[in-house]
Amino acid sequence: MLAGYAVHVEGSRGRRFPEPPHPYRNDFQRDRDRVIHARAFRRLEDKTQVFTRRYSDHFRNRLTHTIEVAQITRTVAAALNLNVDLAEALALVHDLGHPPFGHAGEKALDAAMRAHGLFFDHNLHALRIVEDFEQRYAAFRGLNLTFEVREGIIKHSCDYDPAKHPELAEYLLEQRPPLEAQLIDLTDEIGYNTADLDDGYEAHLLTLEQIRAGLPVFERFFREIEETYPDVPDKLKFNEALKGVFNRLADDLITNTQARLRQTGIETLTNIRLYPKRIAALSPAVEAERKQIKDFLYENLYYSPSLAGEKDDAERIVTELFDFWMKNPAALPHYYHEKASQESLPRVVCDYIAGMTDHFIAEQYEKYCGGN
Ligand code: MG
Repeated sequence: MLAGYAVHVEGSRGRRFPEPPHPYRNDFQRDRDRVIHARAFRRLEDKTQVFTRRYSDHFRNRLTHTIEVAQITRTVAAALNLNVDLAEALALVHDLGHPPFGHAGEKALDAAMRAHGLFFDHNLHALRIVEDFEQRYAAFRGLNLTFEVREGIIKHSCDYDPAKHPELAEYLLEQRPPLEAQLIDLTDEIGYNTADLDDGYEAHLLTLEQIRAGLPVFERFFREIEETYPDVPDKLKFNEALKGVFNRLADDLITNTQARLRQTGIETLTNIRLYPKRIAALSPAVEAERKQIKDFLYENLYYSPSLAGEKDDAERIVTELFDFWMKNPAALPHYYHEKASQESLPRVVCDYIAGMTDHFIAEQYEKYCGGN
């Protein structure tokens, strides 16, 4: 049973281009499936999350991260009686706009755009992918997703200023997004905070002692498991303790959001939209633990010297290729020549680079900048 404050598919504002109903799937299920079948979704397999393939084939890439976020989101959405189909579609689409080489690639692409008075934003880019770049249908460009999925792409992780983004006016920027979208920012964090501890430990960039000393919440679960299973290998104790942290975060997101719904007396989707703040949230105590994990990862993993070389390479490759195509637009593929007649060259070059996989951009670099 869907809650009154959930998004009901029958109440969807629909698609830009109306389509006949499907015999077996509702509109949000179809949107989820359209995302899964998108070329941009398949490319996530070869986009860095934190670690490149150099480390291990076991580590997360953006595709497996996305699947993990979808798993957490489905569980949390179902426990809150939200629309699981919509929440899952939003989880699967949430990283679609990320450029190659993770955060370093994104930073370099944004810096290249800022030199031309523009900027790069992965949520806005994801919207461009689903609205324009994906070409599957004869009748229209893009995936023709429902309003609620497009709105969630824009609004799940940040609030855009309506004055600065008149082009996004249709997405009701002055209102809060539905709970299904609000969840994504938090399930994304639960996913990558725990996964990055796992991959960081496996990569030997984080030690067990370091994690136990730096994260009291992990230490509590670790001690419990040591008492119950003193003789199992450290890796299994680590897994069990991490599972404890993971469940604590997800469980708190559910129970605290339920508590906030009760306290605010929210009963309808309109209440959610018009409430001055987001309702999906962790409780203050667990929020502090979440922040501690995030800070720990920044201090000990994301900026670790072992990853610095790859980041420098990523920034150099993105920056030099961007400059190359700005100076040599004729070397862009034919499709982008057409685009360049409709939009500024920096935007066209940015779109091209943002869509690339790690492998493809490295190949392009070799081809055009390899002699440098
Ligand atoms: Mg993500």
